[in-house]
Amino acid sequence: MSLREVKVTTPGGKYPIFIGPKASRRLPALLDAQVSSARVHLITDSRVARHHGRAVATLLRQNGRVLSRTVLPAGEKSKSAHELTRTWRDCVRAGCDRGACIVALGGGIVGDLAGFAAASVLRGIDFIQVPTTLLAMVDASVGGKTGINLPEGKNLVGAFHQPKAVVMDLDFLRTLPEREARAGWAEVIKTAAIRDPRLFGTLQRQRKQLLRRAPGPLARVIERCCRIKADVVKKDERESGLRRILNFGHTLAHGIEAVQRYGGLLHGEAVSVGMVFAAELGELLGHSRAGTADRLRCLLEAYGLPTSVQGVSPRRVLTAMARDKKRGPRGIRWVFLTRVGETKVTEDVPARVLEKQVRIFFSERKNR
Ligand code: NAD
Repeated sequence: MSLREVKVTTPGGKYPIFIGPKASRRLPALLDAQVSSARVHLITDSRVARHHGRAVATLLRQNGRVLSRTVLPAGEKSKSAHELTRTWRDCVRAGCDRGACIVALGGGIVGDLAGFAAASVLRGIDFIQVPTTLLAMVDASVGGKTGINLPEGKNLVGAFHQPKAVVMDLDFLRTLPEREARAGWAEVIKTAAIRDPRLFGTLQRQRKQLLRRAPGPLARVIERCCRIKADVVKKDERESGLRRILNFGHTLAHGIEAVQRYGGLLHGEAVSVGMVFAAELGELLGHSRAGTADRLRCLLEAYGLPTSVQGVSPRRVLTAMARDKKRGPRGIRWVFLTRVGETKVTEDVPARVLEKQVRIFFSERKNR
């Protein structure tokens, strides 16, 4: 299968995304074209390193490049100030100069932290994203948002820093555990729900092949998601308007993740629950066509995703949501589906309605 290419154009930079089996073989040529220094710093996590670290390191060392690395512990807890400091120090001790390049090999956690390390170390160096999870391929590695979490909330410190290239080697997905793959489908379904009813239909019809990770259908869906995200980011790199729609489901999701101290639901699973909540709230407030939440819930369940969560305190979720950085002057910015494929962003959700719905959502789900 030949490589698919999507071009991303933003004020912060233009770059290609390569999608396909064996795409990582492009890395040496990309480095030759992009990087002035002989230094490459690989950032990955312990699990990804076990499966793919050696093969990628061999590619990065080609043509006399000097390779150093930081291996993070796998998991959301690594998107922290502590691990970021360790990464900065590894880069500096390894002798990285301003012409050096960081290569982020891993899921969204590695990509977010590595991107922020690249944005900040030595006042900013280049980086290349090599996503290894479905979630990172369809969402996290594209668009230049980088950052870390604080105990107070998700992604509260970070920067916009576009990569020089994104290389999506579909062979890496072969080792991805089932639960992690499912979490990726949540962001695919989100993309379809906010922007593309045809993709929504494809996800319904081709579910079996897609869940089997059949290379052809999978590559087409990943490419479609990248094109949609590239289009949104091109129009609004810094999230002053359109880009906000990508946060559909994320307000509640970030609240749940913070309350669970990033050790409960996976990010994609939390987004799945958050999308159902937002879709139901949208219908209740009259923003969405009746039945939209049901259609969404059915598709999420068909991909094995959770649509509810137990044992989470509604009060603490409300407190965490109140810290969400995506607030407008009148409060939290909610993304609702007017119907599948169309969105509406509004701050007009009365606090008492929100509180009541959060309480109902969590207590109802507990009793199901
Ligand atoms: P992740 O990076 O933790 O990866 C999931 C797990 O799978 C990890 O344990 C990892 O070690 C393992 N893994 C990764 N690739 C593997 C492979 N090929 N084979 C075997 N194991 C593999 O999680 P994720 O779901 O990719 O990313 C979630 C993060 O992405 C969250 O922090 C979220 O906030 C962020 N995110 C960022 C953006 C953005 O625009 N920057 C968008 C969406 C999500």
